[in-house]
Amino acid sequence: MQINADLHVHTTYSKDSLITPKDLVFYAKKRGLNAVAVTDHNELEGAYKIAKETDFLIIPGMEVSSSEGHIVALNVHELIPKGYSARETVERIHKAGGVAIACHPYVYFKGCLREKVCETFDAIEVFNARAFPYRRSVKKAEEAAKRFGLSRVAGTDAHYGPQIGYGYTAIEAEASTVEAIAKAIVQGHCQPFGGPVPVVVNIQQQFLRLKRMAKKFSHT
Ligand SMILES: [Zn+2]
Ligand SMILES: [Zn+2]
Repeated sequence: MQINADLHVHTTYSKDSLITPKDLVFYAKKRGLNAVAVTDHNELEGAYKIAKETDFLIIPGMEVSSSEGHIVALNVHELIPKGYSARETVERIHKAGGVAIACHPYVYFKGCLREKVCETFDAIEVFNARAFPYRRSVKKAEEAAKRFGLSRVAGTDAHYGPQIGYGYTAIEAEASTVEAIAKAIVQGHCQPFGGPVPVVVNIQQQFLRLKRMAKKFSHT
């Protein structure tokens, strides 16, 4: 069966995201997705908590800040510590039974892996819907996918509900379960889809973030 999933979404368990668990499910359904991966920064507990509280298919994961760039770990059952090299981080993800994805490896302004992308990864995020510069980063990621024989996936890196689903992966899985999805990604039974989040949606996000910060500030 085909499962369409945004494989890179941050919730309020990441301090920089505006997406509440309720928003997550609401927008994922609205965009016609069948599943969504929760990939908060160096945090795993929230993903499992959200998965328990909804019937919608949640792929628990996290985004690990390795010392050489960000790495998305899907289907891990224990927290992967930050600060290790990319290779060591991937090894730890595999030991924890997870899938290691080189996320936004060639963008500006984010922790990106660049020349640290290597064959030990399972997949590479060829489309990151919030990547800048978008086209160039896609082209470079496609080249790396070919060079290292990595599965190709997409995600939004959403930090605001309406951004969810602009990047998504169509996964040909044997069943509608997290395990089957993880297996299909590792085997390359997946295709990235989508395009960049419209500028206006990103501006709305920044506006709401500033508003929230101002509110916090006025309370202290
Ligand atoms: Zn990142
Ligand atoms: Zn991210």
